[in-house]
Amino acid sequence: MKGPHAVEQTVLVINSGSSSIKYQLVDPTTGEALAKGLVERIGESEGHIQHKYGNEVVDLNEPIGDHEAGMREVLRLFDQVGPRLADAHIVAVGHRVVQGGRYFDGPALINDQVRALIEQLCALAPLHNPAHLKGIDVARELMPDVPHVAVFDTAFFQKLPAETATYALDREVAEKYSIRRYGAHGTSHQYVSNRVSQILGRKDLRQVVLHLGNGASVSAIKDGAAVDTSMGLTPLEGLVMGTRTGDIDPAVVFHLQRQTGWSADEVDTLFNKKSGLKGLTGENDMRAVRTMSISGEGEQRRRARLALDIYITRIIKYIGAYTAELGGLDVLTFTAGIGENDAALRTEVCERLASFGVVLDEEVNTSRIVRSTTISTPESSVRVMVVPTNEEYAIAQQALSLV
Ligand code: ADP
Repeated sequence: MKGPHAVEQTVLVINSGSSSIKYQLVDPTTGEALAKGLVERIGESEGHIQHKYGNEVVDLNEPIGDHEAGMREVLRLFDQVGPRLADAHIVAVGHRVVQGGRYFDGPALINDQVRALIEQLCALAPLHNPAHLKGIDVARELMPDVPHVAVFDTAFFQKLPAETATYALDREVAEKYSIRRYGAHGTSHQYVSNRVSQILGRKDLRQVVLHLGNGASVSAIKDGAAVDTSMGLTPLEGLVMGTRTGDIDPAVVFHLQRQTGWSADEVDTLFNKKSGLKGLTGENDMRAVRTMSISGEGEQRRRARLALDIYITRIIKYIGAYTAELGGLDVLTFTAGIGENDAALRTEVCERLASFGVVLDEEVNTSRIVRSTTISTPESSVRVMVVPTNEEYAIAQQALSLV
């Protein structure tokens, strides 16, 4: 990490969750993180703050009453540990916002009207937007002299073609309740697909991007524009995730409610927090599932292997569908925690795509990959890449573009 004095301008990127605040001071020209940290377990009896600057890592365990107290601690740490924000040439604060509804197809300078729209969208993202608003309000209050910019996870997918954005639901009901496919992880899909275009020096590409982290999504991109994506009204639809079901027959909801008497919130919690890899194996972390599939005891090992097979098959299904939608596939890209680090998963996915002419270069695939890399052979009819995502950098760039 360089000192901020050497950098002409910086952007403070804030991702405020229901009980956490993640932040990063970013050089928006290079993407370098000058300092970063997180506040966790806000509102619980024992909270935790970590702040990293250069070689210094400060960990504090203390109760953090609310987002305002957390944000004040962060500003104090910047002052005490560094870098001093007053000298950091901050040109904008970029806030990650999950749901921008039909209002935002790009970043927005936060004023009272934009704030009101983000608040109005809480009904569509009850787990996320209220938490973002807390972060936005506190940061605007504590840093009133810098422009604050909202960067929406849905923006890249706002221009999806009507046939992929629209559910086959009663038109009036869908209209009345703003039900459509908004997608999510858009900042990552846009950033990664742009990087691929930059690296290959062309925009006229049919791309599939696999963002495989705790949350997971896949998108189809043609000539730089998103044409389909796996997340829908909310980030629940699509691929199997750490704790989420992904695609499931909606009738499972009614069946469960009729059989058990569970409320909508209870089924919501089951689908969002207790399903996916966790529901299938007891573990939501891919590394643990992989280990279990190799060295677990009989039944445990069988369950972990089945979870991996379900996970991979869902990915293959989407790649097949998106290749057909795109009329062919030029580049398949893996990103995020699992996509960037799990070579075995990439091998298993690509083996299943042999009939599409995909040939992986196993030596490159299994080497330590730290930057954008092509992992297919020159003969492969689809180029396969690993491109590290960097949502903070993307948010900083988008925030800078408005100020
Ligand atoms: P988030 O969605 O929280 O940003 P990440 O993109 O950090 O998530 O991805 C987290 C996932 O990445 C976890 O399931 C973790 O197990 C997985 N992961 C990280 N490193 C590896 C690795 N070396 N091999 C396999 N999976 C990994």
